[in-house]
Amino acid sequence: MPKVHIAIDDTDSPLGMCTTFLGALVTLRLSRKYDLIDLSYLIRLNPNIPFKTRGNAAVSMHFEIPEEDVEEVFYYVKNLVEKMASKHGKTQPAVALIIGENYKLQTFYKKALSDVIPLSYALKFAQKIRKENKALISGKRGLVGALAALGAYPLKTCTYELLFYRPIIIRTPSRKLDEQLIFAIDRKYRSQVFANIDYEKSRILVAPHGPDPVLLGIRGFSYETLLKIAEEISSKISYSFWFIYKTNQGLGLHTFIYKKINMVRPYQSVRVLGKVEQKPIIMKGGHVFLRIADETGSLAVAFFKDTGFLNRVARLLSEGDLIEVAGGIQPPSSSTPITLNAELLRVIKTSPKLKYKYPTCPRCGHKLESAGRNKGLKCRKCGFRTKEVALLIEKKPRILEPGLYIQSPRAYRHLSITERLIVYKGLLPPTCQKIGKEQ
Ligand code: ATP
Repeated sequence: MPKVHIAIDDTDSPLGMCTTFLGALVTLRLSRKYDLIDLSYLIRLNPNIPFKTRGNAAVSMHFEIPEEDVEEVFYYVKNLVEKMASKHGKTQPAVALIIGENYKLQTFYKKALSDVIPLSYALKFAQKIRKENKALISGKRGLVGALAALGAYPLKTCTYELLFYRPIIIRTPSRKLDEQLIFAIDRKYRSQVFANIDYEKSRILVAPHGPDPVLLGIRGFSYETLLKIAEEISSKISYSFWFIYKTNQGLGLHTFIYKKINMVRPYQSVRVLGKVEQKPIIMKGGHVFLRIADETGSLAVAFFKDTGFLNRVARLLSEGDLIEVAGGIQPPSSSTPITLNAELLRVIKTSPKLKYKYPTCPRCGHKLESAGRNKGLKCRKCGFRTKEVALLIEKKPRILEPGLYIQSPRAYRHLSITERLIVYKGLLPPTCQKIGKEQ
């Protein structure tokens, strides 16, 4: 039986709807007739894309479907998307279906995680895919996300998200949620869930604030845990239906691409390696700015106050520290240069903090002092004088230690690597440390 992959993107707008909602409807409907070959995917792409509505999500679904049914399935999804997508000038939905796999889609997905893909490129790319596989592809800008979501298959390293939806007629920006319930769930399943609570501010992070149908989303490492949580809370809240997606969230995938400074471009997500050029500047609102340089140029880096822990660590950086910074490239404006908005910092090597001291007098042991400009050193106690100014250098310990530093949960974007993944899953983001050692 042919393996068929179907993807949807760009169905929502600030007025409402959500691509994950449509993906869940399609999966529930098609799975009545066809076997699933995997859970459906919630795929997050480059979080710095300017035309995203919120979390830059696309979805893909994976079934075994007889070839004679494929066209009917595609038109069922296409019609549903056309009917239900938000009617807003900004919304440009797309649906893509492919039979079998194509490794070129995987390359496309990897690019879409951190780079900006022009629609013209996606359209040409779709033509290529049509020549190589049986594929039905339709739509506008959403094509980028839809093709990328097809290329995410098979998602080997993954996390999961349990989504509860409310009826689509309810469009209030606020959700009436029992916050204590969410705190209790997070406490109970602590090592298996992530990015659901901002403990620093004692705030839940599971609910969106727009008119969309998502009531809440709980992120976790295992499908089984999320199933248990769904059973546990479904009797305690009012909702329309729930659904669990396999996702690429929380793994830091958008920051895997290492770039030399002269190669970074606006809206990309990148990882750069360089030396801190000067002491960080701490602005009035608490934001921290510095510049780092490699052999190709120098780049402004911002550690915004919102990044919490990361912002506090950035204050401890010093001139000469060798660091890796990952985040999104913000284009220049009339008042700011092109800037890397930091999400992750890896301190590779701290520069020594040096303190210069006068030596002691060789005759009486008293501390020498300056005898005046270009006059060498003198001893105030015994009158000893010397023209040789050999100051003693003392290395002071640095508070900042080499290591990986990430932002506080409240600043997480869906793809950001989280502490719990690092601690419980041992998933460290890659490093350009080897290059660092060579420098
Ligand atoms: P939701 O989270 O509810 O799905 P969203 O934030 O995903 O909303 P969309 O309405 O899907 O926002 O808009 C994102 C748009 O950006 C889509 O048209 C998608 O095809 C496009 N896009 C995604 N990634 C890239 C990329 N790397 N380069 C260019 N375009 C992209």
